[in-house]
Amino acid sequence: MKNLLILGAGTAGTMMANHLRKKLPREAWRLAVVDQYPKHYYQPGFLFMPFGLYSEADVVKPKKKFIPRGVDYVEAKVDRVDADRNQVLLASGEALNYDVLIIATGAKTAPDQTDGMTGQDWRKRVFDFYTFEGAAALNKALRDWKGGRLVVHISEMPIKCPVAPLEFAFLADWWLAKQGLREKTELVYVTPLPGAFTKPICSKVLGYMLEEKRIRVVTDFNIGRVDNDKHKIISWDEKEVPYDLLVTVPTNMGDAAIERSGLGDELNFIPTEPNTLQSKAHKNIFVIGDATDVPASKAGSVAHFEAEVLTKNILHFINGEALERDFDGHANCFIESGYGKAFLLDFNYNLQPVQGTYPLPGIGPFSLLKESRINHWGKLSFRWIYWNVLLKALPMPGIGHRMSRIGKQIPAEILQAEATA
Ligand SMILES: Cc1cc2nc3c(=O)[nH]c(=O)nc-3n(C[C@H](O)[C@H](O)[C@H](O)COP(=O)(O)OP(=O)(O)OC[C@H]3O[C@@H](n4cnc5c(N)ncnc54)[C@H](O)[C@@H]3O)c2cc1C
Repeated sequence: MKNLLILGAGTAGTMMANHLRKKLPREAWRLAVVDQYPKHYYQPGFLFMPFGLYSEADVVKPKKKFIPRGVDYVEAKVDRVDADRNQVLLASGEALNYDVLIIATGAKTAPDQTDGMTGQDWRKRVFDFYTFEGAAALNKALRDWKGGRLVVHISEMPIKCPVAPLEFAFLADWWLAKQGLREKTELVYVTPLPGAFTKPICSKVLGYMLEEKRIRVVTDFNIGRVDNDKHKIISWDEKEVPYDLLVTVPTNMGDAAIERSGLGDELNFIPTEPNTLQSKAHKNIFVIGDATDVPASKAGSVAHFEAEVLTKNILHFINGEALERDFDGHANCFIESGYGKAFLLDFNYNLQPVQGTYPLPGIGPFSLLKESRINHWGKLSFRWIYWNVLLKALPMPGIGHRMSRIGKQIPAEILQAEATA
């Protein structure tokens, strides 16, 4: 028997367990997944919790429910990977051997990376919504909100779901208006980027949206510290933004086990070949989801597309065949914009989000880089699809892992730049 070990039973690890159990012969391959926690969180739902739109029941289910029969679930903390010995060492001291290793340990918030962030204002005036506890605590704080200066802030890139802070700002504008508190609240959006988003065309559209909603934007803000006494965030170059309520996205990092294993970069993300998802350092280690350093979005949709490519590549690797360079960085992101509407982005490593229709050219039903009600229903239906289709690695007809250019209105200047490149 050979051993295939998956570290992490979150979005990506669970999908890989489901894909591979169907493909690998049971008499030849033992499959196991290791995760430290029993609860699976639907993280996109954390966005809705502060506004009372989702509760615990919507976002939490037992991890084991999604691990298929024939895969061992090991509830344990990984201490480190010893890649030279093909072994994973658990915090208990136990060692697990592997022939092939898939690392899917994700990314997590690290508020302790910013001076003062976890000071006396933490979870009193300073909140995050990237964790279940943070989103639940913020829900309580918003229920007591009477008005003032509400600052939505990103510490540094990359972060999971880079559009989520924008969605938070748009939803806050809508929710405050509904509570009769919008005129009493100054909404400020503070980002380390030069604009609303990383990709230029999209950044322009979303920047306009922020302006229309009277959300003041502070760009190029690289946080140095949080001043808990004066309730201010202060940048390295001494710019100051005061807050009554700070909703921050702390630095996102890979797990400390990656650092202990000597496998990560300075943020503990693992150098990964961007098209095959093989670790750059070890041929029998593959990486998927937020744990990689590939320049794709850190999103569940990306993990879903990656999982299809990685499944093929694991089989190629086991059979001694060349890997397919088939992952193109494809990402789908709905952006909830308030008032029952949303945007949809569809892009990859080479093409930034542009307008068009998705998934059917000319038909949609979703419109790209435009607000619509159908997009909002798409965003809400993602939760059902996540629990019932994506995690179980069931096929999604019409939605391929490679991004299609058909149905997209690609501006002439992009086509020209591509032609001359
Ligand atoms: C607020 C928010 C909104 C989002 N919105 C969207 C969205 O709208 N659309 C979208 O596609 N994506 C969205 N995402 C991103 C999406 O949730 C993640 O990209 C996705 O969950 C990544 O999957 P993963 O398997 O890589 O990591 P995770 O799902 O985080 O899983 C990692 C797993 O590894 C385990 N682990 C880590 N270290 C260890 C260790 N040392 N020992 C044992 N186990 C360990 C963890 O316990 C965890 O279960 C959002 C995320 C957030 C936070």
